[in-house]
Amino acid sequence: MKTAESLSIKTPLLESLPLSQLNQTRVWLKMEAMQPSGSFKIRGIGFACQQHAARGVKRFISSSGGNAGLAVAYAGRQLGIPAVVVVPESTSDRALHLLALEGAEVKVHGKTWADANQLAQSWVTEQDAFIHPFDDALLWQGIAALIDEVVEGGVRPDAVVLSVGGGSLLSGIDQGLTQHGLHQVPIYIAETTGMASYHAALVAGHPIAVDHLSGIATSLGARQVCQRAFDVSKTRTVVGTQVSDREAVDACLAFLDDHRTLVEPACGAALALLYGQKLPLASVENVLVIVCGGSTATLNALQAFK
Ligand SMILES: *Cc1c(COP(=O)(O)O)cnc(C)c1O
Repeated sequence: MKTAESLSIKTPLLESLPLSQLNQTRVWLKMEAMQPSGSFKIRGIGFACQQHAARGVKRFISSSGGNAGLAVAYAGRQLGIPAVVVVPESTSDRALHLLALEGAEVKVHGKTWADANQLAQSWVTEQDAFIHPFDDALLWQGIAALIDEVVEGGVRPDAVVLSVGGGSLLSGIDQGLTQHGLHQVPIYIAETTGMASYHAALVAGHPIAVDHLSGIATSLGARQVCQRAFDVSKTRTVVGTQVSDREAVDACLAFLDDHRTLVEPACGAALALLYGQKLPLASVENVLVIVCGGSTATLNALQAFK
């Protein structure tokens, strides 16, 4: 399924009978959890890395200990370009292990992500490409292709459900919908209450840094969403809903039973909108849920949280 042009694969588009029945509509799952790096991130990051590779960069540098770092490591291995990932001391052993498996050079530095990011930035030379986890037009372009696959699969959604962290997924999906003339389609976004930086931006009227992030949906942990993601709310209906960590975890476990796929709480947040019947879908025929995936959760960790 992987073509010469793309590091991401074409993922399955599945109808969820349990979620369709529960919400009295047709619910379609875009199974990004099946991507080689475990999340949708490889769509944007793979695309960006290929562009940088084509102009001859010698190294990729990232400061993410999560799914973005994993996608950079995967892209580096596939393209034969070394990937360096600088992560803070708080990074889990599991994440370090997964990065090492991909063959990335991992440097643990500093207490916070800002410390790690500062060191990573200081290493970037003209020969390198720094790969941002969410704020780059190349990422959004790569992610937009997801909607091409949905439309080719015969589904023109009239509502989309997805999770928001820094906002690359929202930006890319908005771009893909717009490219297919789906301007009127509302996007229902999910955040956990401890990671609600899009909510904060909507309240403030512009992207704003939240003082304090908390909870287990660490892949949603951007203190401030990117401007592009905020701007989507000016041209399209964007409806924000917050769920508890508990609801996100419960949704992950229900989804594992229903669809035999383990996802992170960051993804469970979006699924919780459907498991909790939180959306006004009475007049909607086809709902598209981006099952964004995630590699850092384990079944043990989810059960321990419960
Ligand atoms: C990165 C990520 C998100 C959030 O995506 P943004 O583009 O930062 O909004 C959600 N879920 C998972 C699993 C992720 O890896």
